[in-house]
Amino acid sequence: MSINIKRVIPIASSLPKRIERLNDLAYNLWWSWNPEAINVFSKIHPVLWDSVSHNPVAFLQQVSRTLLNRVANDKQYLDLYDRVVNNFDSYMGEKETWFVKNYPEVTAGQSIAYFSFEFGLHESIPAYAGGLGILAGDHLKESSDMGIPLEAIGFIYNQGYFVQKITEDGWQETSNFYLDFNKLPMIPILDEKDKPILISVQLPGREIKARIWQIQVGRVPLYLLDTNISENSSFDQQLTAKLYTSDLETRISQEILLGMGGVRVMRALGYNPTVWHMNEGHSAFLSVERCAELVRQGKTFEEAKEIVRKGNVFTTHTPVPAGNDKFPVWLVEKYFSQIWPDLGLTREQFIDLAKEASPYGDQFTMPILALRLSERCNAVSELHGQVSRNMWHFLWPDRKVEEVPITHITNGVHTFSWLSRRMGILFDEYLGTEWRLDPSNPKVWEKVDSIPDAELWAVKRHQKRKLMRFINDKARAQWLTGEVHPVQTIAAGVLLDADALTIGFARRFPTYKRGYLILRDYERLLRIINNVDAPVQIIFSGKAHPADEPGKLIVQQLYRAIKDHRTGGRMVFVENYDMDIARHLVQGVDVWLNTPRRPMEASGTSGMKAAMNGCLNFSVLDGWWHEGYNGKNGWAIGDDKTYESDEKQDEMDALSLYETLEDQIVPIYYSNRSENGVPTTWMSWVKEAIRTLSPQFSTRRMVGDYVREMYIPAIKESEE
Ligand SMILES: *Cc1c(COP(=O)(O)O)cnc(C)c1O
Repeated sequence: MSINIKRVIPIASSLPKRIERLNDLAYNLWWSWNPEAINVFSKIHPVLWDSVSHNPVAFLQQVSRTLLNRVANDKQYLDLYDRVVNNFDSYMGEKETWFVKNYPEVTAGQSIAYFSFEFGLHESIPAYAGGLGILAGDHLKESSDMGIPLEAIGFIYNQGYFVQKITEDGWQETSNFYLDFNKLPMIPILDEKDKPILISVQLPGREIKARIWQIQVGRVPLYLLDTNISENSSFDQQLTAKLYTSDLETRISQEILLGMGGVRVMRALGYNPTVWHMNEGHSAFLSVERCAELVRQGKTFEEAKEIVRKGNVFTTHTPVPAGNDKFPVWLVEKYFSQIWPDLGLTREQFIDLAKEASPYGDQFTMPILALRLSERCNAVSELHGQVSRNMWHFLWPDRKVEEVPITHITNGVHTFSWLSRRMGILFDEYLGTEWRLDPSNPKVWEKVDSIPDAELWAVKRHQKRKLMRFINDKARAQWLTGEVHPVQTIAAGVLLDADALTIGFARRFPTYKRGYLILRDYERLLRIINNVDAPVQIIFSGKAHPADEPGKLIVQQLYRAIKDHRTGGRMVFVENYDMDIARHLVQGVDVWLNTPRRPMEASGTSGMKAAMNGCLNFSVLDGWWHEGYNGKNGWAIGDDKTYESDEKQDEMDALSLYETLEDQIVPIYYSNRSENGVPTTWMSWVKEAIRTLSPQFSTRRMVGDYVREMYIPAIKESEE
């Protein structure tokens, strides 16, 4: 049924024959989680590699032929190149994957379609805003490693997410840029006549078309929709320009394109997925399209709905009703009145699929649509599971709250994308190579205790110095622009000290993350950071959503404190948080601070990245930390108690934060030093953290859970 499809990998530049496979490597993100493959590019020209944000396509386009010729004749380089190409080919050609070994009964052609509004794959592909996207990116990388038959659907936003600059007064300014698709590792999907294959969806009064790009994530293909083509009006060309606009009409149009259009992409490319996984409710309209397909084949809507439900998996990430994606009913009427007759439904029946009463009138709530039409639903941590079952209890009024059909699968992170290269080498030496085969096996991680303190400490110190240099280079580049006040260069981190206890706080800045909490008793904070015998420094980074004024005020409040000379340059703000900054921070700092207002942090993942790199978490017992914390692998802020008011909660949490810092974290870091200065008690905490948290919060464990609890049951049930 599918037409001929061409996926021709573009040629970034003409390469010497001996190293021509660099092009294949550049067009598959596999390189990004393999340190040797990173070196295959960076070794050619390290400065250029950094200046193109580690984008191998742009790198190959810009690197000089002279340099390429030189490495093509360099024995040492060619050894590396050959090894990497061999590893790549055997990875891509692997037949005995984890999935095949565990589920030989699943037949070829049965697959999982994974839908997400955003994907955080790498800093060179800015199609993500935060945790939801990074989780989706890590899900794809792990699915590739495990050989899961999965293909993904999303958008490529030609203006990416915004670039953040902080003014001298601490105000966040945003600018947009245009991504040059020719510089991204994107493969155009073409028909036999080399024309882009287009899919279309119906919007009020018009049809809107989209072309499809493919990004190859190891063995997993990600298909990205793009409406910026001449077949659309100039207005519609902008539909996929930006991530998370506040305009509701744009939003509903994007969600129709992702959900309904995404199903059409699958069909156009010849896929017939058995399982349809929605990462958040943004893609829930996929059920409308799938039901319409079945109704066209002669099923009633009720029959269609039952079939669709069996294959649907829905992951919810939102812990509060206000955070849910919803549309006023009049808007849904405008966009769907031409579609619901295809389902054999009346207006009321259609709206009822996702209706939620509110003081502002009835709303059409996307997570409700997803919950009602998915047999399998999950939250992203144990605590978030409880919260979700309470929040959605009203949809199942006859059941007890424990019986609301939402389970939980706690998030994880892709070990090989986030672990520092040096730490990986240390693990190879002391854990044996098994840890690479199955990073979720706790037994393998028990050997962490055998790593000599001095060696682990040496790696930590190396990572920290690397972080300081990275921040210094950024500060220098900013100063060189001639556009910043000198105090901003201090705020950017030039006075950081590689020997001081270093805390990282990096995340988006919505109010619930309480970026301001640490400032609550400012004088006490100053005493802590300026203790000459035991100094503490804090590195902040993160973006507020451009429409989030309170979030921008928190950034400003922090920045004003950072600029205060009394901090001695020990508090800094690193502009324009992205995956590159995140990677340097989680690998380099000693303590990872997180202060969400419970239970607003559904899971959180940055702390997991920090833990496996030997950084100790210091966090409110919310999200994943509620499960991860054991009293010896990091610290809790506050306890399980929730206070009557936000103000009281802030007061108590801030007190706990200062006390724990003063009485535990700082003394443990600076005391019990061995002759060579190794903090021996600290190292026992670090080992406990690596040992207990790395396996449990890996995507290897997480994707395994999805396969066992969601995908395989859905496949089995769909066969019946
Ligand atoms: C991991 C990551 C996040 C998510 O972290 P949280 O702990 O959920 O706040 C956000 N942004 C970037 C760039 C990340 O790498």
